[in-house]
Amino acid sequence: MMASGTVMILRTINNHWKNASFVLPSSCRSFHTGGPVSTDILQGRWASSHQYQQLDLEENFASSKLVLDDLPPKEAKVVVCGGGMVGTSVLYHLAMLGWGKDVVMLEQGRIGGASSWRGSGFLGGVKLTGPEMKILCKSKALAKELSDAGHDTGWKQCGGLHLARTRDRITHFRKMRAIAEANGTECYILSPEETAKKCDIINTSDLVGSFWVPNDGVCDPYKLTFTLLKLALEQGAHVVDECHLSRIMVQNERVVAVETSKGMIECDYIVNTGGLWARNIGQMSEPQVKVPVHPAEHYFLYTQKLDGIDPTMPALRDPDGNIYIREFNGGFLCGGFEKWAKPSFEKELPGPLQDRELLEDWDHFFVMLKEMLFRVPVMKKASLGCLYNTSCAFSADHRWILGMVPELTNYFVVGGLRSGGSSAAGGIGSMIAEWIVSGTPNMDAYDLDILRFLPAHNNGKFLLDRVREVPGIHYSNAYPFSDFTTGRCLRMSPIFPRLKAAGAVFGQVMGYERPSYFLHKSNGDSADYETTFDNEASIPFQIATTKTWTKPQWFESVAKEYAACREGVALLDYSSFAKFDVWSKGDEVVQALQYLCSNDLDIPVGNIIHTGMQNSYGGYENDCSLARTAPNHYMMIAPSIQQTRSITWLKRNLPSDGSVKDIDFIGREALEQQKKEGVKRLYVHLQLEDHNPEVDPWAWGGEPIYRDGVFVGVTTTTGYGFTLNNLICLGFVRNYDKNGNMDYVTPEYIMAGDYEVDIAGVRYSASVSLRSPSLPSKFPEPQSNRYLATQT
Ligand SMILES: Cc1cc2nc3c(=O)[nH]c(=O)nc-3n(C[C@H](O)[C@H](O)[C@H](O)COP(=O)(O)OP(=O)(O)OC[C@H]3O[C@@H](n4cnc5c(N)ncnc54)[C@H](O)[C@@H]3O)c2cc1C
Repeated sequence: MMASGTVMILRTINNHWKNASFVLPSSCRSFHTGGPVSTDILQGRWASSHQYQQLDLEENFASSKLVLDDLPPKEAKVVVCGGGMVGTSVLYHLAMLGWGKDVVMLEQGRIGGASSWRGSGFLGGVKLTGPEMKILCKSKALAKELSDAGHDTGWKQCGGLHLARTRDRITHFRKMRAIAEANGTECYILSPEETAKKCDIINTSDLVGSFWVPNDGVCDPYKLTFTLLKLALEQGAHVVDECHLSRIMVQNERVVAVETSKGMIECDYIVNTGGLWARNIGQMSEPQVKVPVHPAEHYFLYTQKLDGIDPTMPALRDPDGNIYIREFNGGFLCGGFEKWAKPSFEKELPGPLQDRELLEDWDHFFVMLKEMLFRVPVMKKASLGCLYNTSCAFSADHRWILGMVPELTNYFVVGGLRSGGSSAAGGIGSMIAEWIVSGTPNMDAYDLDILRFLPAHNNGKFLLDRVREVPGIHYSNAYPFSDFTTGRCLRMSPIFPRLKAAGAVFGQVMGYERPSYFLHKSNGDSADYETTFDNEASIPFQIATTKTWTKPQWFESVAKEYAACREGVALLDYSSFAKFDVWSKGDEVVQALQYLCSNDLDIPVGNIIHTGMQNSYGGYENDCSLARTAPNHYMMIAPSIQQTRSITWLKRNLPSDGSVKDIDFIGREALEQQKKEGVKRLYVHLQLEDHNPEVDPWAWGGEPIYRDGVFVGVTTTTGYGFTLNNLICLGFVRNYDKNGNMDYVTPEYIMAGDYEVDIAGVRYSASVSLRSPSLPSKFPEPQSNRYLATQT
């Protein structure tokens, strides 16, 4: 039976493009109508390698004399569960660190047979945060290195061209350029004319400009996966396919063994790289591990070969049109990230060797197809190869998930790589492997750590709702304080209705609905605010938005609130903060907290004290307050976002037998050494001087800081200083020598430099100070007892 909706969209396409020869092959038509999938569909792209990956593997193994294991070993140091691109990268990096013979990777189907063979192969791009940027650079460098060494990775350095249809997008690109340059990536902002010169087949009539990254490129994700696999096998790594992991055995919060369809394996570590299945793998242990990811449909289309297509055409991203396009086998390969996506596999994920393709929905894809044909008009002459509807795993907040899970101590996870796994796999694999081998990650990826979630984020209903919105974020303008409109009301304070009635506009932190600011309706403020969003009807309250890079529309509201707090009295609602009761029968709790915290916590009952909780390097793991409610009883109050991190740190560092013999706090030795030797970065306060907050783009965090024209760090915290009437930036300043190595930083070094902060491509001069300036106060605090967060 032919579905009537399907017929309609075919007609729409044909009517719309009736003068073009963008032809749907008959095989695809039969697919649309729900008929059997003709093998014609598989012609072209996949028939040669991807669709028959098992055959490919066999052919390749035969020629390279490499074989997979029939059965897993009985023991392994590390079990990697999931043989996609990410699992293979972890395996490869562990093998390169010398652990090859002690590692086994299990794959329930065929290696690289899930998302990793469907990837479009865009490799590179620019992210607005340092760790993500580093991960991308590492992945790209690995692909190049392997390619230069003669391995077949499909790597092609064709450059990445990101198109801008709006001025705000150009501002976004300027911010990307600032971060990219600071990370040593060459990149340019181009005019529409220059853009046309980089790629003469694109329609530039509506463009404001573009962002050009010459060293970016594309790869063949499957070939890259296979190369990593081959190199890992050469180092003695064990790999077993058609081997389903079904249970994870735990003792004393440690994984001790895994049960598979081909036998048990005792192990020291497990890495869950299960892609779409990562959340399910999390449910195979007791306690369950929460991996908040959900699959959503992702479409890509390829065309047949078309005469005259330049094989080195840049990898195009047109985020305002929600699409991407690249050359592939003489034709085009294109896909997109629609604003509202369709969740997939809502009830059940496909089994090991089950077909994972979904029926394509031309109605849904048509919006993107229209943009593709508009952007590259010559595509209208192409014959369709096929449209695929596949799935990618998206996390609850769109960012990648990685790290050691809070529930168990030897269990790592990588998940929610969405449609960026090929670009991330190399860097993430290296990070996880080093973390396992050395005990610490090789970069600070706080924002990507799985500890940023709560169990509530793993709720199925929440994820199903949220995943509709997450893919669309990928190409959206990353405005500051962007908030989701789905998955709301996870946690609310008892006074939520009163806050709402008082005009609160809410932001979500750790699932908690918190007022970001208040509309002052009595002053007629509401007219100034943009409060519309696509599914407004389903949300019973106003959600904060900041759809600008410049002065935000909530400025006046916040100014009033600031004045009220500074001049009058403020009542703060701490409901959303993380709170823990810590107590003991004897005075063990005092000893334990003295060991965990760097301040002296032996304070009188009824008092409260602020403290850091340091790690062995002296860095901050937590920044909290402790209220002593009884001689052996404290309440810890930590930032909302620190909830999982705080409890995990407490659990992992409290002595299991309840006794604390060494009362020196964790990190003391490192801090004393720093005090003696000096430090290699200092937290400074920068006040912008020639910045006009009315018209210039604002600093929102992550802006590069320059000292005497040399990049020395990025801003971590920024805001408008209502008393100083200017933008204030806080950030770490480093001292790089000629070879790029970090030297010591002294207060004299800080004060001797001239500073600039780069905001969206414009460097604004800034005055520097080592501490926040003392603002006039009605009730000055005694300086000796003052807590100065930014003091050296
Ligand atoms: C259409 C499309 C286009 C894309 N384009 C790009 C792009 O241009 N650039 C980019 O960077 N990324 C792109 N991606 C994303 C990228 O392909 C994925 O993010 C990446 O492949 C994910 O790799 P993975 O190893 O995490 O997951 P997968 O490749 O899905 O691997 C997970 C594996 O785990 C196995 N597994 C699950 N459960 C078990 C179990 N219990 N026992 C044993 N094995 C198990 C599965 O069988 C699977 O093989 C695209 C993805 C798609 C679908």
